[in-house]
Amino acid sequence: MSEQQFDVVVIGGGPAGYPAAIRAAQLGLSVACVDDWKNSDGTRQFGGTCLNVGCIPSKALLESSELYHRAETEFGTHGIEIGGLTLDLAAMQGRKQRIVKQLTTGIEALFESAGVTAIKARGRLLGDRRVEVTSDDGSQQVLGAEHVVLATGSTPIELPVMPFDGQRIVDSADALEFSEVPGRLGVIGAGVIGLELGSVWRRLGAEVVLLEALDTFLPIVDEQVARDALKQFKRQGFDIRLGARVTGADVDGEIVTVSYDAAGAAQQVEVDKLIVCVGRRPVTDGLLAPEASVELDDQGFIAVDQSCRTSAPKVWAVGDVVRGPMLAHKGTEEGVMAAELIAGHAAEVNYSTIPSVIYTAPEIAWVGKTEAEVKASGRAYNVGTFPFGANGRAKALQQVAGMVKLIADREYDEILGMHIVGPMAGELIAEAVLAMEFSASAEDLQRTIHAHPTLTEAVHEAALSVDKRAIHALNR
Ligand code: NAD
Repeated sequence: MSEQQFDVVVIGGGPAGYPAAIRAAQLGLSVACVDDWKNSDGTRQFGGTCLNVGCIPSKALLESSELYHRAETEFGTHGIEIGGLTLDLAAMQGRKQRIVKQLTTGIEALFESAGVTAIKARGRLLGDRRVEVTSDDGSQQVLGAEHVVLATGSTPIELPVMPFDGQRIVDSADALEFSEVPGRLGVIGAGVIGLELGSVWRRLGAEVVLLEALDTFLPIVDEQVARDALKQFKRQGFDIRLGARVTGADVDGEIVTVSYDAAGAAQQVEVDKLIVCVGRRPVTDGLLAPEASVELDDQGFIAVDQSCRTSAPKVWAVGDVVRGPMLAHKGTEEGVMAAELIAGHAAEVNYSTIPSVIYTAPEIAWVGKTEAEVKASGRAYNVGTFPFGANGRAKALQQVAGMVKLIADREYDEILGMHIVGPMAGELIAEAVLAMEFSASAEDLQRTIHAHPTLTEAVHEAALSVDKRAIHALNR
């Protein structure tokens, strides 16, 4: 076996691994990135879950389905009449696939220009930072590395009572590939994926029933915002059943019968397709030879410190395969941090300002602490809120549902959290992230000039509302 030597070998080319490789190469290190992602058509691509079957294709379909839905239900309000609106799902899927292809092949171009050696094969960490690489044809080589970065991501959790069959009971990846709109769609888990994928197919005409085990809707989201969002989703026709513990699913021909317990009684619902999205687990299967000496934590994640160092010297782990929220941008920051630390620079990730976004309509986005968390911490605080219904741009956009909520320390006025449900929430939250990164106060946002007419004025007014001085609200 030949042995090639690199400064850094990254295993995994998703949104945590590929930025780690590119940043390390920018810093003058010799880098290889090994990735074994294979799409359903057999092609190998960099980009991991995010680009191939996650963030990017789902956002492409969310946009297309939203346009279809608005054309169907809202264009009339604008005085635009469309007769004979039709859906060409194959064309919609084709657009999505082209976006994915452009971005995934783009990574290879980025690797080439940065000087990263791209290897589409399976990587396994041996001892002494040696990486065994196995290609599709079974041939093997071993790479030697001064540093190894593990970035193998996560995969959907399968429920033993309803295993995936790729046809009727599917995971989030297969749920992006339907070739026709299901008449009745079941979704297990009213979490981030359930709501986003449920939205795509609901907008295209499916009846959607979401079965959620917990009694609380979106417990990770600020309670007031979650309540507001639930109201909107119910108005859109989602059948959201909380406190529903699934017990099994039977496939009979084209029908899936889902059994669940709710309110102490056994119940059933029949659907044409069932998406199971009850969370994701870290991917470590076959990754670590015992002599690699990399420890896992009690949840199966690779154990790391604050700087993403594993238990093995000069072996790092970043992204979904380590603790923390499973968010592409969190992984990217960790990957870049690891590369900079490897190159001898100072670097850290500010875990308290990682934003989250749920791409429903209205979108939900937040950063920092929820009101319940601030209350539980015993800190005195003020809250400012502002409804999009009082924002001119939101009215022009015909998207007046939702609000901005800002929580600030009562004594020091420091911004502790911002929570948004409404149009473009995922874009608007960036202002709060930047403000919190600089430890800004609500007054800093109050003094910042926001263009008129924009949605950002709702953020400004929420900051003003902290001191009961919003201009376009009653300040009660
Ligand atoms: P999730 O944790 O967001 O939601 C899973 C839901 O399933 C939870 O509400 C849970 O209570 C419920 N559940 C679990 N077991 C159940 C059961 N047996 N019956 C009924 N309900 C059950 O997980 P997800 O939606 O699968 O997403 C996985 C990860 O991917 C999350 O960490 C998420 O943040 C991330 N992700 C993020 C985005 C984004 O940033 N927009 C998009 C997609 C996925």
